[in-house]
Amino acid sequence: MYTVTNPATGELVEEIENATDEEVRAAIDRVHSAYPAWRGRSVAERAKIVSRAAELFAERSGELAEIMTLEMGKRINEGRGEVGIVVDIFNYYADNAATLLADEPMRVSTGDAVIVKQPIGALLGVMPWNFPCYQVARFVAPNLVLGNTILLKHASICPRSAQAIADVLHEAGVPADVYVNTFASSRQIPAVLADPRIMGVSLTGSEPAGISVATEAGKHLKKTVLELGGSDPLIVLDSDDLDETVKQTATARMRNCGQSCNAPKRMIVLSELYDDYVDKLSKHVADHFQPGDPADPATRLPPLASAAAADEVAGQVRKAVEQGATLRTGGNRIEPGAYLEATVLTDVTREMDAYYEEIFGPVVVVFRAENEEHAVELANDSPFGLGASVWGTDPARLRRVAERIEAGMVYFNRAGGSSADLPFGGIKRSGIGRELGPAGIEEFMNKKAIRL
Ligand code: NDP
Repeated sequence: MYTVTNPATGELVEEIENATDEEVRAAIDRVHSAYPAWRGRSVAERAKIVSRAAELFAERSGELAEIMTLEMGKRINEGRGEVGIVVDIFNYYADNAATLLADEPMRVSTGDAVIVKQPIGALLGVMPWNFPCYQVARFVAPNLVLGNTILLKHASICPRSAQAIADVLHEAGVPADVYVNTFASSRQIPAVLADPRIMGVSLTGSEPAGISVATEAGKHLKKTVLELGGSDPLIVLDSDDLDETVKQTATARMRNCGQSCNAPKRMIVLSELYDDYVDKLSKHVADHFQPGDPADPATRLPPLASAAAADEVAGQVRKAVEQGATLRTGGNRIEPGAYLEATVLTDVTREMDAYYEEIFGPVVVVFRAENEEHAVELANDSPFGLGASVWGTDPARLRRVAERIEAGMVYFNRAGGSSADLPFGGIKRSGIGRELGPAGIEEFMNKKAIRL
Protein backbone atom coordinates (compact mmCIF):
# COMPACT_ATOMS: atom_id res chain seq x y z
CA MET A 1 0.00 0.00 0.00
CA TYR A 2 1.23 3.52 -0.81
CA THR A 3 0.17 5.79 2.01
CA VAL A 4 0.21 9.53 2.55
CA THR A 5 0.38 10.33 6.27
CA ASN A 6 1.10 13.87 7.43
CA PRO A 7 4.09 13.43 9.78
CA ALA A 8 3.38 16.77 11.46
CA THR A 9 0.01 15.54 12.75
CA GLY A 10 -0.15 11.80 12.19
CA GLU A 11 -3.26 12.27 10.04
CA LEU A 12 -3.84 9.61 7.34
CA VAL A 13 -4.49 11.49 4.10
CA GLU A 14 -4.61 8.90 1.33
CA GLU A 15 -4.04 5.23 0.62
CA ILE A 16 -3.27 3.81 -2.82
CA GLU A 17 -3.33 0.11 -3.66
CA ASN A 18 -0.10 -1.44 -4.89
CA ALA A 19 0.14 -2.30 -8.55
CA THR A 20 -0.82 -5.87 -9.38
CA ASP A 21 1.81 -8.21 -10.83
CA GLU A 22 0.08 -7.89 -14.16
CA GLU A 23 0.27 -4.10 -14.03
CA VAL A 24 3.97 -4.25 -13.21
CA ARG A 25 4.58 -6.57 -16.17
CA ALA A 26 2.62 -4.19 -18.41
CA ALA A 27 4.73 -1.27 -17.16
CA ILE A 28 7.93 -3.16 -18.05
CA ASP A 29 6.51 -3.84 -21.46
CA ARG A 30 5.82 -0.13 -21.97
CA VAL A 31 9.34 1.09 -21.10
CA HIS A 32 10.87 -1.72 -23.14
CA SER A 33 8.72 -1.03 -26.21
CA ALA A 34 9.35 2.71 -26.04
CA TYR A 35 13.14 2.31 -26.06
CA PRO A 36 13.94 2.00 -29.80
CA ALA A 37 12.06 5.18 -30.75
CA TRP A 38 13.49 7.15 -27.82
CA ARG A 39 17.09 6.14 -28.51
CA GLY A 40 16.41 6.88 -32.17
CA ARG A 41 15.72 10.53 -31.48
CA SER A 42 18.63 12.94 -31.74
CA VAL A 43 20.50 13.99 -28.60
CA ALA A 44 19.38 17.57 -29.30
CA GLU A 45 15.71 16.54 -29.32
CA ARG A 46 16.01 14.68 -26.03
CA ALA A 47 17.98 17.56 -24.49
CA LYS A 48 15.26 20.01 -25.50
CA ILE A 49 12.63 17.96 -23.68
CA VAL A 50 14.85 17.68 -20.60
CA SER A 51 15.38 21.44 -20.70
CA ARG A 52 11.62 21.98 -20.87
CA ALA A 53 11.27 19.71 -17.83
CA ALA A 54 13.65 22.05 -15.97
CA GLU A 55 11.36 24.99 -16.78
CA LEU A 56 8.29 23.14 -15.59
CA PHE A 57 9.97 22.04 -12.36
CA ALA A 58 10.84 25.68 -11.71
CA GLU A 59 7.22 26.74 -12.36
CA ARG A 60 5.85 24.00 -10.06
CA SER A 61 8.38 24.49 -7.28
CA GLY A 62 5.78 25.76 -4.79
CA GLU A 63 3.36 22.94 -5.54
CA LEU A 64 6.06 20.24 -5.32
CA ALA A 65 7.35 21.69 -2.05
CA GLU A 66 3.84 21.54 -0.57
CA ILE A 67 3.52 17.89 -1.55
CA MET A 68 6.86 17.04 0.10
CA THR A 69 5.86 18.93 3.26
CA LEU A 70 2.63 16.95 3.45
CA GLU A 71 4.15 13.56 2.65
CA MET A 72 7.43 13.57 4.54
CA GLY A 73 7.46 16.73 6.64
CA LYS A 74 10.12 18.67 4.77
CA ARG A 75 10.32 22.35 5.72
CA ILE A 76 8.55 24.26 2.99
CA ASN A 77 11.57 26.44 2.20
CA GLU A 78 13.84 23.41 1.97
CA GLY A 79 11.35 21.87 -0.43
CA ARG A 80 11.58 24.89 -2.72
CA GLY A 81 15.36 24.71 -2.44
CA GLU A 82 15.30 21.03 -3.35
CA VAL A 83 13.31 21.73 -6.50
CA GLY A 84 15.87 24.45 -7.32
CA ILE A 85 18.59 21.77 -7.40
CA VAL A 86 16.35 19.56 -9.53
CA VAL A 87 16.09 22.42 -12.03
CA ASP A 88 19.91 22.73 -12.01
CA ILE A 89 20.29 19.00 -12.67
CA PHE A 90 17.88 18.94 -15.61
CA ASN A 91 19.52 22.07 -17.03
CA TYR A 92 23.02 20.69 -16.55
CA TYR A 93 22.33 17.51 -18.54
CA ALA A 94 20.32 19.36 -21.20
CA ASP A 95 22.96 22.07 -21.66
CA ASN A 96 25.92 19.66 -21.67
CA ALA A 97 24.32 16.77 -23.57
CA ALA A 98 26.20 17.41 -26.81
CA THR A 99 29.57 17.53 -25.05
CA LEU A 100 28.95 14.63 -22.67
CA LEU A 101 27.70 12.37 -25.48
CA ALA A 102 30.17 13.41 -28.18
CA ASP A 103 32.20 10.67 -29.87
CA GLU A 104 35.72 10.24 -28.50
CA PRO A 105 38.25 9.53 -31.25
CA MET A 106 41.23 7.40 -30.15
CA ARG A 107 44.52 6.51 -31.67
CA VAL A 108 45.33 2.95 -30.54
CA SER A 109 48.33 0.70 -31.15
CA THR A 110 46.67 -0.92 -34.17
CA GLY A 111 45.21 2.20 -35.77
CA ASP A 112 42.24 4.51 -35.27
CA ALA A 113 39.18 3.93 -33.12
CA VAL A 114 36.27 5.88 -31.76
CA ILE A 115 34.25 5.52 -28.57
CA VAL A 116 30.56 6.20 -29.19
CA LYS A 117 28.26 6.74 -26.26
CA GLN A 118 25.00 4.87 -26.43
CA PRO A 119 22.14 3.98 -24.09
CA ILE A 120 21.55 0.40 -22.93
CA GLY A 121 17.76 0.15 -22.65
CA ALA A 122 15.01 0.21 -20.04
CA LEU A 123 16.14 0.86 -16.47
CA LEU A 124 14.55 0.51 -13.06
CA GLY A 125 14.85 3.29 -10.45
CA VAL A 126 14.06 2.61 -6.78
CA MET A 127 13.98 5.87 -4.90
CA PRO A 128 13.64 7.03 -1.26
CA TRP A 129 11.51 9.52 0.57
CA ASN A 130 14.15 11.86 2.03
CA PHE A 131 14.57 14.01 -1.10
CA PRO A 132 11.58 12.87 -3.16
CA CYS A 133 12.37 15.10 -6.15
CA TYR A 134 16.17 15.44 -6.05
CA GLN A 135 16.93 11.71 -5.78
CA VAL A 136 14.75 10.96 -8.80
CA ALA A 137 16.31 13.82 -10.79
CA ARG A 138 19.86 12.53 -10.30
CA PHE A 139 18.92 9.24 -11.94
CA VAL A 140 16.37 10.39 -14.48
CA ALA A 141 17.84 13.53 -16.08
CA PRO A 142 21.11 11.97 -17.36
CA ASN A 143 19.43 8.76 -18.48
CA LEU A 144 16.69 10.51 -20.43
CA VAL A 145 19.29 12.62 -22.21
CA LEU A 146 21.35 9.51 -22.94
CA GLY A 147 18.35 7.68 -24.41
CA ASN A 148 17.47 5.08 -21.77
CA THR A 149 13.85 4.61 -20.70
CA ILE A 150 12.77 4.46 -17.08
CA LEU A 151 10.48 2.52 -14.79
CA LEU A 152 10.34 4.32 -11.46
CA LYS A 153 9.35 2.83 -8.11
CA HIS A 154 9.24 5.58 -5.52
CA ALA A 155 9.07 5.18 -1.74
CA SER A 156 5.68 4.04 -0.52
CA ILE A 157 5.22 7.14 1.66
CA CYS A 158 5.47 9.63 -1.21
CA PRO A 159 3.11 8.59 -4.01
CA ARG A 160 1.99 12.16 -4.68
CA SER A 161 5.57 13.30 -5.31
CA ALA A 162 5.99 10.30 -7.61
CA GLN A 163 2.90 11.22 -9.60
CA ALA A 164 3.75 14.95 -9.74
CA ILE A 165 7.24 14.19 -11.11
CA ALA A 166 5.77 11.91 -13.80
CA ASP A 167 3.25 14.64 -14.71
CA VAL A 168 6.01 17.25 -15.14
CA LEU A 169 8.09 14.93 -17.32
CA HIS A 170 5.17 13.97 -19.52
CA GLU A 171 4.04 17.56 -19.90
CA ALA A 172 7.59 18.50 -20.90
CA GLY A 173 7.35 16.05 -23.79
CA VAL A 174 8.81 12.81 -22.39
CA PRO A 175 6.59 10.18 -24.02
CA ALA A 176 4.27 8.43 -21.55
CA ASP A 177 6.00 5.07 -22.08
CA VAL A 178 9.55 6.45 -21.83
CA TYR A 179 9.02 7.35 -18.17
CA VAL A 180 6.58 5.16 -16.27
CA ASN A 181 5.80 5.53 -12.58
CA THR A 182 4.75 2.29 -10.89
CA PHE A 183 3.24 1.78 -7.47
CA ALA A 184 4.97 -1.58 -7.23
CA SER A 185 5.82 -2.94 -3.80
CA SER A 186 9.39 -3.85 -2.91
CA ARG A 187 8.22 -7.49 -2.92
CA GLN A 188 7.68 -7.22 -6.68
CA ILE A 189 11.16 -5.84 -7.41
CA PRO A 190 12.94 -9.23 -7.77
CA ALA A 191 10.57 -10.14 -10.61
CA VAL A 192 11.28 -6.81 -12.31
CA LEU A 193 15.03 -7.43 -12.02
CA ALA A 194 14.65 -10.96 -13.36
CA ASP A 195 12.88 -9.66 -16.47
CA PRO A 196 15.31 -9.64 -19.39
CA ARG A 197 13.78 -6.41 -20.72
CA ILE A 198 15.19 -4.45 -17.72
CA MET A 199 18.88 -3.69 -18.27
CA GLY A 200 19.96 -2.06 -15.02
CA VAL A 201 18.85 -0.62 -11.70
CA SER A 202 19.66 2.41 -9.59
CA LEU A 203 18.64 2.45 -5.93
CA THR A 204 18.98 5.14 -3.32
CA GLY A 205 18.04 4.07 0.18
CA SER A 206 19.04 1.87 3.06
CA GLU A 207 21.72 -0.81 3.16
CA PRO A 208 19.22 -3.70 3.44
CA ALA A 209 17.33 -2.44 0.38
CA GLY A 210 20.63 -2.00 -1.48
CA ILE A 211 21.80 -5.51 -0.60
CA SER A 212 18.51 -7.03 -1.66
CA VAL A 213 18.41 -5.20 -4.99
CA ALA A 214 22.10 -5.78 -5.75
CA THR A 215 21.73 -9.50 -4.95
CA GLU A 216 18.77 -9.90 -7.29
CA ALA A 217 20.41 -7.78 -9.99
CA GLY A 218 23.61 -9.79 -9.62
CA LYS A 219 21.75 -13.06 -10.20
CA HIS A 220 20.73 -11.71 -13.58
CA LEU A 221 24.02 -9.87 -14.31
CA LYS A 222 22.42 -6.44 -14.33
CA LYS A 223 24.35 -3.23 -13.84
CA THR A 224 23.63 -1.64 -10.45
CA VAL A 225 24.15 1.83 -9.00
CA LEU A 226 23.65 2.14 -5.25
CA GLU A 227 23.53 5.30 -3.15
CA LEU A 228 23.17 4.02 0.41
CA GLY A 229 23.76 5.30 3.89
CA GLY A 230 26.51 7.43 5.29
CA SER A 231 27.94 8.57 8.58
CA ASP A 232 30.00 11.42 7.28
CA PRO A 233 32.75 12.79 9.51
CA LEU A 234 33.13 16.54 9.92
CA ILE A 235 36.60 17.39 11.22
CA VAL A 236 37.18 20.74 12.91
CA LEU A 237 40.94 21.39 12.91
CA ASP A 238 40.85 25.04 13.94
CA SER A 239 38.62 28.06 13.58
CA ASP A 240 38.99 31.82 13.59
CA ASP A 241 35.30 32.19 14.51
CA LEU A 242 34.04 29.27 16.58
CA ASP A 243 30.51 30.69 16.93
CA GLU A 244 30.19 30.74 13.16
CA THR A 245 31.68 27.25 12.82
CA VAL A 246 29.18 25.97 15.38
CA LYS A 247 26.29 27.61 13.56
CA GLN A 248 27.26 26.34 10.15
CA THR A 249 28.07 22.80 11.23
CA ALA A 250 24.81 22.52 13.22
CA THR A 251 22.83 23.81 10.24
CA ALA A 252 24.48 21.27 7.96
CA ARG A 253 23.59 18.43 10.35
CA MET A 254 19.98 19.55 10.85
CA ARG A 255 19.18 20.09 7.18
CA ASN A 256 16.21 17.93 6.16
CA CYS A 257 15.76 17.11 9.87
CA GLY A 258 19.03 15.18 9.76
CA GLN A 259 17.69 12.77 7.14
CA SER A 260 20.35 13.19 4.46
CA CYS A 261 22.69 10.40 3.47
CA ASN A 262 25.58 12.90 3.27
CA ALA A 263 24.79 14.97 6.37
CA PRO A 264 27.78 15.38 8.71
CA LYS A 265 26.78 12.88 11.40
CA ARG A 266 30.04 12.68 13.36
CA MET A 267 31.68 15.94 14.43
CA ILE A 268 35.34 15.26 15.20
CA VAL A 269 36.84 18.23 16.99
CA LEU A 270 40.47 18.73 17.98
CA SER A 271 41.03 18.69 21.71
CA GLU A 272 41.89 22.39 22.09
CA LEU A 273 38.49 23.42 20.68
CA TYR A 274 36.39 20.49 21.88
CA ASP A 275 34.97 21.79 25.18
CA ASP A 276 34.02 25.18 23.76
CA TYR A 277 32.58 23.59 20.62
CA VAL A 278 30.40 21.17 22.60
CA ASP A 279 29.12 23.89 24.98
CA LYS A 280 28.31 26.31 22.19
CA LEU A 281 26.81 23.61 19.95
CA SER A 282 24.56 22.22 22.71
CA LYS A 283 23.25 25.71 23.51
CA HIS A 284 22.77 26.63 19.86
CA VAL A 285 20.98 23.38 19.04
CA ALA A 286 18.67 23.68 22.05
CA ASP A 287 17.85 27.34 21.41
CA HIS A 288 17.69 27.43 17.65
CA PHE A 289 16.12 24.14 16.54
CA GLN A 290 12.68 24.28 18.08
CA PRO A 291 10.00 21.99 16.64
CA GLY A 292 7.23 23.51 14.56
CA ASP A 293 4.92 23.18 11.59
CA PRO A 294 6.97 22.37 8.48
CA ALA A 295 4.53 24.43 6.38
CA ASP A 296 5.53 27.55 8.36
CA PRO A 297 8.66 29.10 6.81
CA ALA A 298 9.84 30.21 10.28
CA THR A 299 10.08 26.62 11.56
CA ARG A 300 13.58 25.28 12.14
CA LEU A 301 12.90 21.71 13.26
CA PRO A 302 10.23 19.84 11.30
CA PRO A 303 9.03 16.31 12.07
CA LEU A 304 10.90 13.30 10.75
CA ALA A 305 9.35 11.58 7.74
CA SER A 306 7.26 9.15 9.79
CA ALA A 307 6.48 8.20 13.37
CA ALA A 308 8.37 4.94 12.78
CA ALA A 309 11.49 6.85 11.74
CA ALA A 310 11.23 9.14 14.78
CA ASP A 311 10.76 6.15 17.11
CA GLU A 312 13.78 4.44 15.61
CA VAL A 313 16.09 7.43 16.02
CA ALA A 314 14.79 8.10 19.55
CA GLY A 315 15.55 4.43 20.29
CA GLN A 316 19.12 4.80 19.00
CA VAL A 317 19.64 7.81 21.27
CA ARG A 318 18.15 6.02 24.27
CA LYS A 319 20.35 3.00 23.69
CA ALA A 320 23.47 5.14 23.34
CA VAL A 321 22.70 6.78 26.70
CA GLU A 322 22.04 3.39 28.33
CA GLN A 323 25.41 2.24 27.01
CA GLY A 324 27.17 5.24 28.60
CA ALA A 325 27.00 8.16 26.14
CA THR A 326 26.34 11.66 27.51
CA LEU A 327 23.13 13.40 26.41
CA ARG A 328 23.97 17.12 26.19
CA THR A 329 20.54 18.21 24.99
CA GLY A 330 17.34 16.82 23.45
CA GLY A 331 16.56 13.14 23.03
CA ASN A 332 12.79 13.24 23.64
CA ARG A 333 10.06 12.22 21.23
CA ILE A 334 7.35 14.86 20.83
CA GLU A 335 3.82 13.91 19.88
CA PRO A 336 1.45 14.28 18.12
CA GLY A 337 3.49 13.93 14.97
CA ALA A 338 6.89 12.44 14.19
CA TYR A 339 9.01 14.94 16.13
CA LEU A 340 12.23 14.32 17.98
CA GLU A 341 14.04 17.05 19.89
CA ALA A 342 17.27 18.23 18.32
CA THR A 343 19.88 16.19 20.15
CA VAL A 344 23.58 16.34 20.98
CA LEU A 345 25.47 13.26 22.18
CA THR A 346 29.07 13.02 23.36
CA ASP A 347 31.29 10.32 24.87
CA VAL A 348 30.17 7.75 22.31
CA THR A 349 32.73 4.95 22.28
CA ARG A 350 33.48 2.04 19.98
CA GLU A 351 31.64 -0.37 22.27
CA MET A 352 28.33 1.45 21.69
CA ASP A 353 26.00 0.77 18.76
CA ALA A 354 25.80 4.49 18.00
CA TYR A 355 29.51 4.56 17.15
CA TYR A 356 29.16 2.60 13.91
CA GLU A 357 25.45 3.03 13.09
CA GLU A 358 24.04 5.70 10.86
CA ILE A 359 21.69 7.97 12.81
CA PHE A 360 19.13 9.28 10.32
CA GLY A 361 17.63 12.18 12.27
CA PRO A 362 18.38 15.43 14.11
CA VAL A 363 21.19 14.07 16.26
CA VAL A 364 24.74 15.40 16.45
CA VAL A 365 27.45 13.14 17.84
CA VAL A 366 30.66 14.89 18.82
CA PHE A 367 34.03 13.17 19.25
CA ARG A 368 37.22 14.53 20.78
CA ALA A 369 40.39 14.04 18.72
CA GLU A 370 43.78 14.38 20.37
CA ASN A 371 45.44 15.58 17.18
CA GLU A 372 45.16 15.55 13.40
CA GLU A 373 46.29 11.92 13.18
CA HIS A 374 43.65 10.82 15.67
CA ALA A 375 40.98 12.84 13.81
CA VAL A 376 41.74 10.98 10.56
CA GLU A 377 41.72 7.67 12.42
CA LEU A 378 38.27 8.39 13.92
CA ALA A 379 36.95 9.63 10.57
CA ASN A 380 37.98 6.43 8.82
CA ASP A 381 36.78 4.12 11.59
CA SER A 382 33.37 3.65 9.97
CA PRO A 383 31.78 1.09 7.69
CA PHE A 384 30.60 4.00 5.53
CA GLY A 385 32.53 6.17 3.09
CA LEU A 386 30.13 8.59 1.47
CA GLY A 387 31.22 12.18 2.15
CA ALA A 388 33.33 14.10 4.63
CA SER A 389 34.23 17.67 5.42
CA VAL A 390 37.26 19.35 6.89
CA TRP A 391 37.06 22.71 8.60
CA GLY A 392 39.97 25.02 9.32
CA THR A 393 41.98 27.99 8.14
CA ASP A 394 45.10 26.43 6.59
CA PRO A 395 44.44 25.26 2.99
CA ALA A 396 47.51 22.99 2.93
CA ARG A 397 46.39 21.27 6.12
CA LEU A 398 42.82 20.87 4.82
CA ARG A 399 44.16 19.26 1.67
CA ARG A 400 46.52 16.96 3.60
CA VAL A 401 43.65 15.67 5.73
CA ALA A 402 41.26 15.40 2.76
CA GLU A 403 43.72 13.15 0.93
CA ARG A 404 43.67 10.68 3.81
CA ILE A 405 39.93 10.39 4.33
CA GLU A 406 38.18 7.26 3.06
CA ALA A 407 35.19 8.83 1.30
CA GLY A 408 33.81 9.49 -2.14
CA MET A 409 33.61 13.25 -1.58
CA VAL A 410 35.35 15.74 0.71
CA TYR A 411 34.34 19.37 1.21
CA PHE A 412 36.30 22.21 2.81
CA ASN A 413 34.50 24.46 5.30
CA ARG A 414 31.09 23.32 4.14
CA ALA A 415 29.17 20.08 4.47
CA GLY A 416 26.31 18.07 3.13
CA GLY A 417 25.88 19.87 -0.17
CA SER A 418 25.57 18.72 -3.73
CA SER A 419 25.73 20.38 -7.12
CA ALA A 420 24.59 19.23 -10.53
CA ASP A 421 28.08 19.22 -12.08
CA LEU A 422 30.01 17.55 -9.24
CA PRO A 423 30.05 13.73 -9.08
CA PHE A 424 28.26 12.34 -6.02
CA GLY A 425 28.73 8.90 -4.48
CA GLY A 426 30.58 6.83 -1.95
CA ILE A 427 32.88 3.92 -1.21
CA LYS A 428 32.74 1.13 1.40
CA ARG A 429 29.15 0.42 2.50
CA SER A 430 27.88 3.75 1.17
CA GLY A 431 27.37 2.38 -2.29
CA ILE A 432 28.57 1.70 -5.77
CA GLY A 433 28.87 4.16 -8.64
CA ARG A 434 28.41 7.89 -9.05
CA GLU A 435 25.58 10.25 -9.87
CA LEU A 436 25.66 13.83 -11.14
CA GLY A 437 28.39 15.53 -13.18
CA PRO A 438 29.96 13.80 -16.18
CA ALA A 439 30.28 10.53 -14.20
CA GLY A 440 26.51 10.41 -13.64
CA ILE A 441 25.67 9.93 -17.30
CA GLU A 442 28.21 7.12 -17.78
CA GLU A 443 26.76 4.51 -15.41
CA PHE A 444 24.16 3.09 -17.79
CA MET A 445 26.04 3.93 -20.98
CA ASN A 446 27.44 1.59 -23.58
CA LYS A 447 30.81 3.15 -24.35
CA LYS A 448 31.09 1.29 -27.60
CA ALA A 449 34.61 1.00 -29.02
CA ILE A 450 34.60 1.03 -32.82
CA ARG A 451 37.91 0.09 -34.42
CA LEU A 452 37.94 2.02 -37.68
P1 NDP B 1 14.42 2.05 2.31
O1 NDP B 1 15.76 1.75 1.83
O2 NDP B 1 13.63 0.94 2.86
O3 NDP B 1 13.58 2.73 1.11
C1 NDP B 1 14.16 3.27 -0.03
C2 NDP B 1 13.48 2.70 -1.27
O4 NDP B 1 13.81 1.31 -1.39
C3 NDP B 1 11.96 2.74 -1.21
O5 NDP B 1 11.45 2.95 -2.51
C4 NDP B 1 11.62 1.36 -0.72
O6 NDP B 1 10.32 0.96 -1.04
C5 NDP B 1 12.64 0.53 -1.46
N1 NDP B 1 12.93 -0.76 -0.87
C6 NDP B 1 13.03 -1.10 0.44
N2 NDP B 1 13.37 -2.38 0.58
C7 NDP B 1 13.48 -2.89 -0.67
C8 NDP B 1 13.77 -4.17 -1.19
N3 NDP B 1 14.06 -5.20 -0.39
N4 NDP B 1 13.78 -4.35 -2.50
C9 NDP B 1 13.50 -3.32 -3.33
N5 NDP B 1 13.19 -2.09 -2.90
C10 NDP B 1 13.19 -1.86 -1.59
O7 NDP B 1 14.48 3.21 3.32
P2 NDP B 1 13.72 3.34 4.70
O8 NDP B 1 12.56 4.18 4.49
O9 NDP B 1 13.46 2.04 5.35
O10 NDP B 1 14.84 4.13 5.53
C11 NDP B 1 15.63 3.44 6.47
C12 NDP B 1 17.05 3.89 6.42
O11 NDP B 1 17.52 3.94 5.08
C13 NDP B 1 17.31 5.27 6.93
O12 NDP B 1 17.35 5.29 8.30
C14 NDP B 1 18.63 5.57 6.27
O13 NDP B 1 19.64 4.95 6.97
C15 NDP B 1 18.52 4.91 4.94
N6 NDP B 1 18.15 5.80 3.86
C16 NDP B 1 19.12 6.38 3.14
C17 NDP B 1 18.81 7.25 2.14
C18 NDP B 1 19.85 7.92 1.33
O14 NDP B 1 19.64 9.03 0.88
N7 NDP B 1 20.96 7.27 1.07
C19 NDP B 1 17.43 7.59 1.82
C20 NDP B 1 16.46 6.90 2.63
C21 NDP B 1 16.84 6.04 3.60
P3 NDP B 1 9.14 1.05 0.05
O15 NDP B 1 9.02 2.47 0.44
O16 NDP B 1 7.97 0.55 -0.71
O17 NDP B 1 9.56 0.15 1.16
